[in-house]
Amino acid sequence: MSKLKNKVALITGGNSGIGFGIAEAFRNEGAIGTITGRNQETLDRSVQELGTAFTGINGDVTKMEDLERIFKDTFDRFGRIDTLVVNAGGIVDGIPMAAIAGVTEENYDRYMDLNLKSAYFTVQKALPYLNDGASIILIGSSAAHRAAPGMTIYGAAKAAVISLAKGLSLDLLERKIRVNTLSPGSIDTPVFGKIVPQDQVEQVKQVWKDLIPIGRMGLPSDMGKAAVLLASDDSSFIVGTEILSDGGMTAIS
Ligand code: NDP
Repeated sequence: MSKLKNKVALITGGNSGIGFGIAEAFRNEGAIGTITGRNQETLDRSVQELGTAFTGINGDVTKMEDLERIFKDTFDRFGRIDTLVVNAGGIVDGIPMAAIAGVTEENYDRYMDLNLKSAYFTVQKALPYLNDGASIILIGSSAAHRAAPGMTIYGAAKAAVISLAKGLSLDLLERKIRVNTLSPGSIDTPVFGKIVPQDQVEQVKQVWKDLIPIGRMGLPSDMGKAAVLLASDDSSFIVGTEILSDGGMTAIS
């Protein structure tokens, strides 16, 4: 049976990597809705690959006016929103992650804006349009639990995202909106091409792979399956917590 039949989902950053994997899994379970991103080319391509189920809306999640437009346009089109996946985040354009001596105040703010502030305000701007009983999935990271050199600010922002899920789930209790975090471990997505030059991508992936007890990197489809659980009624008693899907990487730290 389709677990998300007739549900309307909105997935930020659904035009790439984990967000697209979640959109595919949702589509396979009967959901329809919206994916967002700023790159119109990947947005158009992703919408096309998803068939007729999803529409694409261009917008920057760090801009309040874009968030308001994304939710209003989705609601105008579908008449409801049952599931919100707050996925857009990760590397800030043109600003590599760095150890403390190499971080400017502006770079610090940009990372916090993308990975923490935008998550909070994405939820706030969604509220007028979300159904009572909706499911909100925040995408965290195993980096919140397992430090890596140069990833301090990102890890701290994602740790705060896990805390957001707890607090927001209490804030939204009255409306029976469930908020949870899905924290990926090392997942094979285009993000690696943003971190190192293309000819080093495979080498870097191998380094991460060697850290994962289960012996492989995660796939966007792995995240899709976990997100289906959190979006569906099967998780109706899972509230304000975190699912860590990392192939056992944090189990050994
Ligand atoms: P990708 O780089 O493949 O995707 C990032 C997505 O975020 C893109 O869709 C991008 O779209 C969107 N995005 C980035 N900045 C903005 C912005 N300012 N406004 C709107 N959209 C934005 O990365 P992943 O799929 O790997 O990452 C997705 C999420 O998963 C992130 O939150 C990341 O932190 C998290 N994560 C990833 C892990 C991994 O190993 N891959 C591990 C743990 C967590 P566009 O560029 O078109 O705007």
